[in-house]
Amino acid sequence: MDIISIIEKKKNKEELTKEEIEYFVDNYTNDSIPDYQMSSLLMAIVLNGMSEEETFNLTEAMMNSGDVLDLSIFNGLAVDKHSTGGIGDKTTIIIGPILASLGCKVAKISGRGLGITGGTADKLESIKGYNISITKDQFLKQVEDIGISLSYNIGNLAPADKKIYALRDVTGTVDSIPLIASSIMSKKLALGADAIILDVKVGKGAFMKDIEEARKLANLMIKIGKRFNRKVKAILTNMDIPLGYNIGNKIEVMECINVLEGNGETNLTALSVALASNLLNMVKEIPLEECEKEVINSINSGKAIEKFKELVSAQGGDYESIFENKNKLFTIKSTKSGYINDINSELVGLASLKIKVGRETKDDPIDYD
Ligand code: URA
Repeated sequence: MDIISIIEKKKNKEELTKEEIEYFVDNYTNDSIPDYQMSSLLMAIVLNGMSEEETFNLTEAMMNSGDVLDLSIFNGLAVDKHSTGGIGDKTTIIIGPILASLGCKVAKISGRGLGITGGTADKLESIKGYNISITKDQFLKQVEDIGISLSYNIGNLAPADKKIYALRDVTGTVDSIPLIASSIMSKKLALGADAIILDVKVGKGAFMKDIEEARKLANLMIKIGKRFNRKVKAILTNMDIPLGYNIGNKIEVMECINVLEGNGETNLTALSVALASNLLNMVKEIPLEECEKEVINSINSGKAIEKFKELVSAQGGDYESIFENKNKLFTIKSTKSGYINDINSELVGLASLKIKVGRETKDDPIDYD
């Protein structure tokens, strides 16, 4: 087998075999295939697509390229979530404590910000002392003890995807449904949760600008999950306007606290309740309406915010520090009356990058406040 004939085959719109897919994934990961040949193959995939069978095989090969965590110790209660990224999207920090307070096991590995969209890992790091880089054993023990860990970079999950994604990012080969679906699902499957909710964003501030394309992506990821015996649901959510009121790291954590205390902004609260209820529905197999009641009750009873405080403390964070600079916040009042009927998410995201909410280059420092 050789890479040139695999590239030729894809160029000629032929279906690649499982062995051919494993060959290019393994050999690119171990540096035996150079970037220029991999880029050429990726472009052929972007232009000529992949069948479902090829996409399953690509997902499996990338999943098996590194560690695969075993969460079976959590008896079917391990839950996970993926958002394709949006401006002001902070739902992981909300639904994690809610679900843990309801008996689910939230073993969640989050990423740093990418481009204009923030990352949960950066938001959590804005809490003084919060250690996102704990060991795999600490991570699993914390999930066992308190039902939740929100961390970063546990184990060596799907290294093939990490390397291929970095190449796609700089070769114009990101926008391919089979490549996106296999990239996301290889990481989710390697983490090993029993039930996964996918929040697929659509609109100006999102990766997928078109609802039909977003639906195709969601359906393909659901099929991949089923093929690997996972329960998977997807929600398509609008990202034309930012989610919630706050954009920035520490102020987003503050907004999560508002939701967990029952005083959250309406859209953010509604999406968080929908995501949490659907995950609960998958693991507990009770009707969705009952799950919704349990989720709302977790918020209203104070259990959700208590679980968040427990999480912050378990990871070494100082809960009170979140509010330290609250007095620096100020309001700019409009000089005219009227209604805001649109906010361009993409522009707000770009503006937030300029004030160092995220990184313009890989090593840029972040301003958490
Ligand atoms: N997010 C991922 O993890 N992979 C992609 O390909 C696109 C978005």
